[in-house]
Amino acid sequence: MKITRIVVHRVDLPLTKPYALSGGRLRFETLDSTVVRLETDDGLVGWGEACPWGPTYLPAHGRGVRAGIAELAPTVLGRDPRQVEVLDQAMDRALPGHLYAKAALDIAAWDIFGKAAGLPVCELLGGRFPGRIPIEGSVGTDSEDEMLRTIDGYRNRGYRVFSGKVGTGITSDLARIRFLHGQMTPQETVSFDANRAWLPSDAVTILNAVRDIPVRFEQPCETFEACRQVRRLTTHQISLDECLVTFPDVVRLYAESAAEVVNLKINRIGGLTKGRHIRDFCVGAGLAMLIMETGGSILADAAAAHLAQSTPPAFRIATWMPHDMVRVDLAPGQGPRCIDGEIEAPSEPGLGVTPDLALLGDPVAVYPRP
Ligand code: MG
Repeated sequence: MKITRIVVHRVDLPLTKPYALSGGRLRFETLDSTVVRLETDDGLVGWGEACPWGPTYLPAHGRGVRAGIAELAPTVLGRDPRQVEVLDQAMDRALPGHLYAKAALDIAAWDIFGKAAGLPVCELLGGRFPGRIPIEGSVGTDSEDEMLRTIDGYRNRGYRVFSGKVGTGITSDLARIRFLHGQMTPQETVSFDANRAWLPSDAVTILNAVRDIPVRFEQPCETFEACRQVRRLTTHQISLDECLVTFPDVVRLYAESAAEVVNLKINRIGGLTKGRHIRDFCVGAGLAMLIMETGGSILADAAAAHLAQSTPPAFRIATWMPHDMVRVDLAPGQGPRCIDGEIEAPSEPGLGVTPDLALLGDPVAVYPRP
């Protein structure tokens, strides 16, 4: 089987409401997503998506995804999509780095691999572990009351896991952390994600001031080194997110005891093939994970759901479903949808999501060029 054509669509995904991270430093209203269709000589088609959470969240942006795909197209055309490791190695040789640009192509190859094998992607990634995966509800930085209103909206849909976005400063963040933690029922958990906003001095002050509250903090500071410094001077569980990009980053986290939890976002680390490498290392090393996408439609979320479903339940704390925060649904009724605050990976062969062509519009690029 050979890949004969790559069709690229650009899709705007407006958020249901403006969303602020990192203490309001980062604000988002619409995401620029790239959806890819790989066609093969035996008629199978695979779908993938890469959607950075705007251009400011990570060193990634929508036009960069499409430029990367243009660069990679000659390497991808003619390859067998079922040989995902071979394809991954070939893409790394053709274009070092630019992991987020590789993710859509890699995910589409896994979709074809699953369809060719007659199996859902989770079964190719290691098997379907039982049970549903809790969805973490993302609560943008806002006033305490407004953040609680957002949590109540999630509660109405069965969510029990929440991530409160903080980062406005010591006094306001301490008030927010104590208030929201105090609103949790025994069945609920809230963690606090600074999205790199704090200097180590602020982070150490804040975490030590709430030493009595057993919550997890995520990505307190900009760099790995700054987060590790916070880890050494505080006692809370810490997860790292934005500063984990490559496999060696995760090995370093483990070797230096820099955090207890890995936030694995498939787009950031380059797709499902590289995601599987990191996931398997974390299972072997005893690191719990949050497994999710950086953003996107139900298509991107389906890939995350398959990696999470094939991860032992003790190691998967939760996922996040960014499709829930956008106003466009590219595949109505399909894919991993919220059931009482949880999701399950689809059971159809491949990813189990086929976008509606009418919603995608005309392609912005086709390879080989017509
Ligand atoms: Mg995070």
